[in-house]
Amino acid sequence: MDTQMLIGSKFERGTETEEAILNPRTGETILSLPEASPAQIEAAVAAAQKAFVTWSKTTPAQRSGYLLKIADRIEAEAEGFAKLEALNCGKPINAVLNDEIPAIVDCYRFFAGAVRSMPGLVAGEYLPGHTSMIRRDPVGIVASIAPWNYPLMMMAWKLAPAIAGGNTVVFKPSEQTPLTALKLAKILADVLPEGVVNVVLGRGESVGNTLINHAAVSMISITGDVATGKKVLQAAAKSVKRTHLELGGKAPVIVFDDADIDAVVSGLRAFGYYNAGQDCTAACRIYAGKKVYDKLVADLSSAVSTIRFGQADDTENEIGPLISRRQRDRVASFVERASELKHIDITTGGKPGEGGGFYYQPTVVAGALQEDEIVRREVFGPVVSVTRFSDVDEAINWANDSDYGLASSVWTKDISRGMSTAARLQYGCTWINTHFMLTNEMPHGGLKQSGYGKDMSVYALEDYTAVRHVMIAHG
Ligand code: NAD
Repeated sequence: MDTQMLIGSKFERGTETEEAILNPRTGETILSLPEASPAQIEAAVAAAQKAFVTWSKTTPAQRSGYLLKIADRIEAEAEGFAKLEALNCGKPINAVLNDEIPAIVDCYRFFAGAVRSMPGLVAGEYLPGHTSMIRRDPVGIVASIAPWNYPLMMMAWKLAPAIAGGNTVVFKPSEQTPLTALKLAKILADVLPEGVVNVVLGRGESVGNTLINHAAVSMISITGDVATGKKVLQAAAKSVKRTHLELGGKAPVIVFDDADIDAVVSGLRAFGYYNAGQDCTAACRIYAGKKVYDKLVADLSSAVSTIRFGQADDTENEIGPLISRRQRDRVASFVERASELKHIDITTGGKPGEGGGFYYQPTVVAGALQEDEIVRREVFGPVVSVTRFSDVDEAINWANDSDYGLASSVWTKDISRGMSTAARLQYGCTWINTHFMLTNEMPHGGLKQSGYGKDMSVYALEDYTAVRHVMIAHG
């Protein structure tokens, strides 16, 4: 197992506080890893600064070549990466191998292509006797900070557009899930010039905080909690750094009376509980029309009760445990508080799993009202609430009545109702008759407190580059 950080071309162990890296299936410690010292963070930033001088001058075709090599190397070691991610996050091996790794490989390949054909305004004489042109240049050194729910995928979403755009990066994985980042660091050191990507380990309040406050960092890209995003904004304000924030979500799902209920149930069974619900786009806040509500609750509860987890043969598991005891207890406390309300009915699940792992039963919370905590706050676990609505305006108003604005979906057989509802939803993404599906060509990112800045797609490449105007007077 790779355990060392990448600083310039050197692999080093941190020298500070050790963090226990746990196996969420058992609660046991896999190993402990020390975090980076201030001097090591300084060295990583200095390596990124030095590398920027030459990396920022490479051609799109050259950078594309490097990205394609990274993609090939991850693909060649897909099993190794999948096993490590499954170990560190408790994810079912098939989910990592068949869903995540291909999407990760494709992310590097997408940006390898996208950077060679960036769109923009045409050059021209917008003033007589003067030719104007638009450039898109690198921003500088990017501090990239990732969460624990999809460690290798978040690393791809952050690294690929950043280095495609000619930036250099100091990357910090979540202190809970650093293992695949350390494995990828070996490949990055082989493939990329020294210092283009550096990987440092440590907690948010120490290493993360030092990085986001570093004077030489020009841009902070973070995926995490809303509270963490606010801290990033405060740090960025001191030196007016560019920020790219992907924060939480609480995705509403509007099910109209004419929806195909079998499709809704199988969609929610998959997209409400994937990754044990630890997903900022999880289909977790259902609004059901009054005619379909009872059938939806009954069918969904029986479908969710069949979700397989905690099996000794991991290939049978559909979901894993939560990432930590703390997260499991947090989820449990949301459900406990909800179950104390008279109008709430926990129709399936509602308890932690058995054994030493951080499992929580897939849960349906029926009868939830708009003002309930379970409807308003991000649970980030395998818990879906269902609320009855009486008309389209009520459904849309409730869906929009949220601090979050990342993802949403509408289920109906009437395509014009689907389109007009999608137009009124204040979310970065709205799916119609599906949920959760992402593709590297399309942007992912939020509104409101879900943050701003897009991952994936050409919009990410725009976020990681600066628009510049160059004008020539003809004389
Ligand atoms: P978190 O905010 O606790 O941590 C995220 C990262 O930020 C970690 O690497 C952490 O070490 C770092 N961090 C924490 N405090 C910091 C500080 N003061 N300065 C600098 N860095 C700091 O979030 P988490 O618990 O790891 O992840 C779960 C959260 O991420 C959820 O709220 C989820 O919705 C969100 N998320 C959002 C998206 C999206 O695309 N919008 C995707 C995945 C996860």
